[in-house]
Amino acid sequence: MTNSANCHMLLANGGRHACVFTFRCSLLSNSGNLNLITQALEAVGRKMEVLPDPSTVHFHLPGDLSVLVHRKYEDFINELISKFPHEKEGILKFYGICWKIFNSLNSLELKSLEEPLYLFGQFFQKPLECLTLAYYLPQNAGDIARQFIKDQELLSFIDAECFIVSTVNALQTPMINASMVLCDRHFGGINYPVGGVGGIATSLADGLVEKGSEIRYKANVTNVLLENGKAVGVRLSNGKEFFAKTVISNATRWDTFGKLLKDKELPEEEKNFQKNYVKAPSFLSIHMGVKASVLPAGTDCHHFVLEDDWNNLEKPYGSIFLSIPTVLDPSLAPEGHHILHIFTTAGIEDWEGLSRKEYEEKKEVVANEIIRRLEKKLFPGLQDSIVLKEVGSPKTHRRFLARNDGTYGPMPRGKPKGLLAMPFNTTSIDGLYCVGDSCFPGQGVIAVAFSGIMCAHRVAADVGLEQKSPVLDAGLLGLLRWLRTLA
Ligand SMILES: Cc1cc2nc3c(=O)[nH]c(=O)nc-3n(C[C@H](O)[C@H](O)[C@H](O)COP(=O)(O)OP(=O)(O)OC[C@H]3O[C@@H](n4cnc5c(N)ncnc54)[C@H](O)[C@@H]3O)c2cc1C
Repeated sequence: MTNSANCHMLLANGGRHACVFTFRCSLLSNSGNLNLITQALEAVGRKMEVLPDPSTVHFHLPGDLSVLVHRKYEDFINELISKFPHEKEGILKFYGICWKIFNSLNSLELKSLEEPLYLFGQFFQKPLECLTLAYYLPQNAGDIARQFIKDQELLSFIDAECFIVSTVNALQTPMINASMVLCDRHFGGINYPVGGVGGIATSLADGLVEKGSEIRYKANVTNVLLENGKAVGVRLSNGKEFFAKTVISNATRWDTFGKLLKDKELPEEEKNFQKNYVKAPSFLSIHMGVKASVLPAGTDCHHFVLEDDWNNLEKPYGSIFLSIPTVLDPSLAPEGHHILHIFTTAGIEDWEGLSRKEYEEKKEVVANEIIRRLEKKLFPGLQDSIVLKEVGSPKTHRRFLARNDGTYGPMPRGKPKGLLAMPFNTTSIDGLYCVGDSCFPGQGVIAVAFSGIMCAHRVAADVGLEQKSPVLDAGLLGLLRWLRTLA
């Protein structure tokens, strides 16, 4: 699962520091069918101790617009309406549609959308919900917002809401993705795992091993092995080979087809994907330990800062994400201290071709500028309060996350037709499946957990553990492939 969480632990490892650096987000919602991580943990007999997060994010935006996304939907929506009273109706309509989509998704048993028997079953049980999802599948959040809202500043706020999900504005964010995230944060609330988000991966791994699975760490796959065009196994960097009926790649589709299958010509389907999607930029991350006195009492855990100009939202280093997990779980830092995880978008090209010295100097300069901006906007005295600082560049992300250019995930090249162009889990190579954020429904932890569940179901059907109909399979997979070419 989220390698990012573990990367942040790595940045602080070696027992050098007493702080536990952790992921910025809280992800365990606790009810409905979309609580996929809680369900996955339960499936392997694990449950995590969690702390309720009273808010998801505090936006600090141009024109001193400040909006706190409260845990309770009513509190959030009332706060937003109080800032834009003339748009009350539009706000209720836009977020109302998000709920309609979320409730439809949440009422379905989530399995593979590439498995026709399941799809027909769901359609007969919940026709309205399925039709609702089909209707919104090719639509984007920004278009729907514009049907009800005229105020430019409010539309920009919705861009910021979408940007923190997808790293693109609302016009480029599929409505289904936006709805999943904008509602899940209120549905049952968001809960922060005690000890840090890295605990989710550790718990899942422990549970899997207890159930009889084997996990090989430090196993760097360099090739997917093919036999007569079928994927039959993998080769590791140490030369060892493993063979299996099925190969599932959690590397991005760019890595899977560009690196692990580099000798094979790019299949048409992947050409189509790369035509519609580009790699989103990577990040510059700063992990800091600071004296607790620098934070005003009542500081929220998560912040998003865009100071003066909405046009900077999507620009490299334009907006700043900040999390202070010790606000919720003080055990992560020594008494009297907080940990800050700060990050901002940055492209790998900005960091290539530097000598070691230039690279270290650049990290220092860029990080200090981000800290200066936070000091000015939120926490006077921040620079002087730092007791520990680690900076990671897009190169760090590329190295530790094993992701092409350290990318955050796929980003539509132009204006997408919602989620229509997103590939699912099967690939044009027999026996090879892809999973993760370059598959439907995209990036974000809930989305990739959904992709994992979809993939597991499709593979189970293909290896005979679940029912399947080869004739219907061929029809549905052909139809989906054709639909993707329309996007
Ligand atoms: C700084 C940052 C903050 C984020 N904040 C949030 C947030 O608040 N909320 C949210 O929902 N999402 C957030 N995300 C996004 C979320 O973390 C990702 O969308 C999600 O982790 C993607 O999951 P994945 O399984 O597709 O890929 P990854 O998490 O990258 O996992 C892929 C796995 O495959 C392994 N792998 C890759 N190549 C190979 C190989 N060749 N051999 C062996 N193993 C390999 C990797 O080591 C990794 O373990 C954030 C991401 C970043 C970088």
